Amino acid sequence: MTLDGSTPAAPMPLTAFGPGSVVVPPPGDPATFPALQAEIRELAREHNAVVLAHSYERPEIQDVADHVGDSLRLSRIAASAPESTIVFCGVSFMAETAKILSPDKRVLLPDLAAGCSLADSITVEQLRSWKAEHRGAVVVSYVNTSAAVKAESDYCCTSSNARAVIDAIPADRRILFLPDMFLGLWLQRVTGRKLTIWLGECHVHAGIRPSDVAEWHRREPNAELLIHPECGCTSQVIEIAGDEAHILSTEGMVTYAERSSADTFLVATEVGILHRLEQKAPGKRFVPVNREAVCQYMKLTTLEKLRDALRLGVHEIDVPAEVAARARVALERMIAIA
Ligand code: SF4
Repeated sequence: MTLDGSTPAAPMPLTAFGPGSVVVPPPGDPATFPALQAEIRELAREHNAVVLAHSYERPEIQDVADHVGDSLRLSRIAASAPESTIVFCGVSFMAETAKILSPDKRVLLPDLAAGCSLADSITVEQLRSWKAEHRGAVVVSYVNTSAAVKAESDYCCTSSNARAVIDAIPADRRILFLPDMFLGLWLQRVTGRKLTIWLGECHVHAGIRPSDVAEWHRREPNAELLIHPECGCTSQVIEIAGDEAHILSTEGMVTYAERSSADTFLVATEVGILHRLEQKAPGKRFVPVNREAVCQYMKLTTLEKLRDALRLGVHEIDVPAEVAARARVALERMIAIA
């Protein structure tokens, strides 16, 4: 089932996809962190490795990484990094993306169970059938997709540049947008384009509800509201918060908070971003609208697993050359459109 551009948005059921039996390791003992982090830095130097961490990762992982950011920022860094090994502290589609953009490098993912409910929302077989129903349409895939889905796409995008990607496509072309319906609906509104949207979602962002935002807005009426466009609350929240609502990618949130004169921000995305926001904008207050917005996949990576990935060279990610070659075209278009 998809949403056509002419179909009004309706409440959707939560996705059937989710972390299921994924077991998240408990928080580590902070007293052990400095020694582990020192060991990781030494191993990274020894193995000529760069450590990349998504901003939803555990704070101690973000602190030991060479670079922290969202998918677009990390994709760019992976493509230009001089090191021969990339250790990706994130989820599997991100490590695949790094491998596609850097085929000659070794790419390691510390825990192979680090998947993504949004990427699982669509399979390559489903995409092929959808394309067959809409021959001639341009396929735009959010970067949270498997390598095989990217290979069937014309463009990839992240939440940082999704609007620019849609704007770059000629106005007379039909667009299939996948897999995130909330991002698709938001894009439809801000670009004025009619999109045909796949009904996928991230279980974490879909769990952030308008009532969460309304409650916090009542408690903190002067706070600015930072919302990720994957959130299930995006469309309704603009009505609640008006001009104080800022629909931003995770990198956009960081930049906005650094520059804003406000001192309190309500944050509607995965709670791992709070660590980065607090580091980048010290002295300001960041309040999660839903403390339960935790991505279990992103919390699988621990310092011990990162150390072992470097020490043992596990787990190496590979993408078949033919799939990678086609996926690279869509990814390079994404990177070219800032
Ligand atoms: S927060 Fe959602 S979209 Fe991001 S990795 Fe986790 S499941 Fe995927």
